[in-house]
Amino acid sequence: MKTRAAVSYEEGHPLVIETLDLDEPKTNEVCVKMSAVGLCHSDYHALAGNRPVGMRPMVLGHEGAGIVTKVGHGVTDIRPGDHVVLMFIPSCGKCRWCLAGDTHACALGPSIAKGPQPDGSFRMHKQNGQNVGQFCLLGAFSELTVVHQQSVCVIGKNYPFEAACLVGCGVVGGFGAAVNRAHVRPGSSVLVIGIGGIGSNIIQGAASVNASMIVAADQFDQKLEWSRSFGATHTINIEKENLLEKVMEITDGVGVDFAFEAISHPETIGLAFEAAAKMGKVVVVGLTPSHFETLPISPLKLVLTQKTLMGSIYGTSNARIEIPKLLSMYEHGQIKLDELVTRTYSLDEINQGYEDLLAGKNIRGIVKFD
Ligand SMILES: [Zn+2]
Ligand SMILES: [Zn+2]
Repeated sequence: MKTRAAVSYEEGHPLVIETLDLDEPKTNEVCVKMSAVGLCHSDYHALAGNRPVGMRPMVLGHEGAGIVTKVGHGVTDIRPGDHVVLMFIPSCGKCRWCLAGDTHACALGPSIAKGPQPDGSFRMHKQNGQNVGQFCLLGAFSELTVVHQQSVCVIGKNYPFEAACLVGCGVVGGFGAAVNRAHVRPGSSVLVIGIGGIGSNIIQGAASVNASMIVAADQFDQKLEWSRSFGATHTINIEKENLLEKVMEITDGVGVDFAFEAISHPETIGLAFEAAAKMGKVVVVGLTPSHFETLPISPLKLVLTQKTLMGSIYGTSNARIEIPKLLSMYEHGQIKLDELVTRTYSLDEINQGYEDLLAGKNIRGIVKFD
């Protein structure tokens, strides 16, 4: 098969749109015709080299939804015509974490940035035969992709793909961090630093369990304005105001019960720690560039204030349960998805999409396929 895809050749260089050869799905694999794919910051980190990828050329893209066109031998629960959301961490179903229901911690997780499929072989190739990797085992910035069935979640056919694709990363990641990882409680106070695809969904998660105070912090006024529509009760522009002073003022000097960091920088993780109340929870959701190795957190304060510092990946969620649940909440008006999409791009406009992301113009930009 042939497919047009956005390929990363060199760190920090724009993606190249070109036609690749795509293998037929092998045993336990499915071919998916992509409909919509979100422009998540994680793809940008891979593109820019902030976080190492195992190889290039590599097709990026991991927040996607589309329609199954073909299935390989051994695929019994997924059929051509099924609508699916891609999962950026697969669920092998066999490792100790999957068996315990913690599929977000699947043993295959470390393989997702390497390039080949888990069996070491490739499905995408240049016309000259050179192998091309698939970021997160998916390579979703492609008209067609072939992935293992353990990387897809079948969804109902009644959801628009633009909304559904976001649930594959940003929505699960943010909502789950609030609800499944931190267990935000009714009446509690919450701080969210960084209002992008993840941060806006942390706010939605906290609002869904009736947190009474949700403070959104970002450097862009436009994002702060959007945050109110997702449930933020207070906003702080971290470039114009002192975050800690403002949080203490709003909380009568106590700090927040739950402080989330979704910017991916040690400095703001340190601020989240300081902004949390005694016994509060500090949840790091942003994936920091790999050259940062330490956090500016006082070990003495950690003990004296008895705060809990935790990370959350993929919303600490079992994606096959969480994705349909979140789509059902969307259907019933309990979370907003359409409002997260600020602009759509064609595959050929994908580099513009990343420029807009860096300029803070989007909550989520989306690549829409014909
Ligand atoms: Zn993502
Ligand atoms: Zn597993």
